[in-house]
Amino acid sequence: MNSPLTTYITLISASGVLNVYLCLYVYFKRQSYKKIAYFFIAYTATIAIYCFSAAFSLLSTTLGQIKFWTTIQYIGMPISVILGLLFVMYYLGIHLSKIKIVALLILPIITSTMVATNDLHHLYYRVFEVDPILGAPYIKQEIGVWYMIHGAYIFLCMLAALLLAISYWKEISKIYRPQLLSLILGQFIPMVTAFLYLMELTPRGVDPVPMVLWLSSILYLWSISSSRMFTLMPIAKDIIFNSINDGVVVLDESLQVIEFNQICKKYFPKVNKNMIGKDFYKAWLELIGKDFPLLLDLESRSQEMQLMFEETKRIYQIRVSPLIEVGNNKGLILIFTDVTELKELQLKLEYQANYDGLTQIYNRRAFMDYCEQNFLEAKEKSIPFSVILMDIDYFKKVNDTYGHHIGDQLLKHVVTIFENQLTVEQIFARYGGEEFALSLNGYTATEAELLGNKLRKSIEGQSLSSSKGLISVTFSMGIAQAIPNKAETIDQLLNKADKALYSAKQAGRNQVHIYKRAR
Ligand code: GH3
Ligand code: MG
Ligand code: MG
Repeated sequence: MNSPLTTYITLISASGVLNVYLCLYVYFKRQSYKKIAYFFIAYTATIAIYCFSAAFSLLSTTLGQIKFWTTIQYIGMPISVILGLLFVMYYLGIHLSKIKIVALLILPIITSTMVATNDLHHLYYRVFEVDPILGAPYIKQEIGVWYMIHGAYIFLCMLAALLLAISYWKEISKIYRPQLLSLILGQFIPMVTAFLYLMELTPRGVDPVPMVLWLSSILYLWSISSSRMFTLMPIAKDIIFNSINDGVVVLDESLQVIEFNQICKKYFPKVNKNMIGKDFYKAWLELIGKDFPLLLDLESRSQEMQLMFEETKRIYQIRVSPLIEVGNNKGLILIFTDVTELKELQLKLEYQANYDGLTQIYNRRAFMDYCEQNFLEAKEKSIPFSVILMDIDYFKKVNDTYGHHIGDQLLKHVVTIFENQLTVEQIFARYGGEEFALSLNGYTATEAELLGNKLRKSIEGQSLSSSKGLISVTFSMGIAQAIPNKAETIDQLLNKADKALYSAKQAGRNQVHIYKRAR
């Protein structure tokens, strides 16, 4: 064997051995690199196949042996180029779906098959025979149609990876520029070598590309090993992602589920890894049994709504925000926040602001709001409107005789009796300690007096049965009717009712008085 050939074989084999070493090195340390490690492992494995088969091809002495090793070579080489492209893409944060990866691999797989079956169709090599001058392992070849298609495709893929890496130069943080340069060189070196080979500027009959591929692998390994982006950042991102107290779902631009965090599993126990890759609407329907209530649109801005889940009795606030990367909409991020406690607290506070704690009817604040609404509405519609103020007679005595606790029971007792005779339109409230009020839309003072007397008599006739025996009370009531077309405020009207109440008390209690100017 002549000495240049031995040198080529040694160089190619060394490149293969180095790739095997790098492949195993990353394989055993794959935990510290995250997913990019798998692209690197696959890349170096295919490069190793490419190198060793090229070396064996150069060691061959017959055409049959050369054909065999060329076939193997074409299993490694075309796929390695795609893996190189995928590696660069992944490094730059471009994650392709499985379908797209398979689509990229279709042409290389056809090439591998074409080379293996070339004798049947001669579409890859029109002529493939031992070089008549140089002899084995040198080959005299004439290229076929598929050789050109394959060549163009491989060249485009390498060019794409190279240009992609270059295009990120400005965007990438300065501290990662050496790594990016390393990626660029990793693509550039084999490209230039292949170009020189095609221009017949390298020794004839020997493909020099495998000889330089060890350099690309080393550059790639350095780029991921020195880049904390692939060691610390993914781990940090995972921890942050999973420690967020909100459920986060990430969707790609076709609204497929890309990722969800641990909290989602807590919120929606049926969530599982099978959802990944599914259309979000379908996955949601399977999960919840109902359609997702928001329209997910890449163009839409942030949206927000609350969702109530009857089964779990939980309320979630959903926020949808676009995931924007360098001006391009790359998908959506859905954030689910459990607002159940917040909502309950809000409802409780709203209730406390409007209802009386002891009797659970409207308090003075709510009464003033509704009463004013009724008052203005009646004015607008020119219908009568009256208010009744009621005060329990000698209530202090009840407290003094039976105790405050019995006094409280009595307050609840009168409320129950009154409420049974009133409608929701008749706004009934606790106006003060043992004072109550009624806002009566559509009532004249005389009609209000009728109702007041009915209520007064009902209380008189129904004593409270308490631990201290039967206790009965009476009510005094004051009524005032709004005067049409008079510039009168609700406070002035209530003041008149108060005066009427005072007059009822003065007249001996347990009676209903209507406010009259003359009094
Ligand atoms: P009058 O016939 O003149 O109205 O006599 P009265 O004893 O009812 O006199 P007044 O209205 O001045 O007294 C109201 C009393 O109601 C004073 C207070 O101790 C009592 N009271 C106010 N709020 C409550 C309450 O929430 N529970 C109890 N048990 N008593 C209350
Ligand atoms: Mg009072
Ligand atoms: Mg009283």
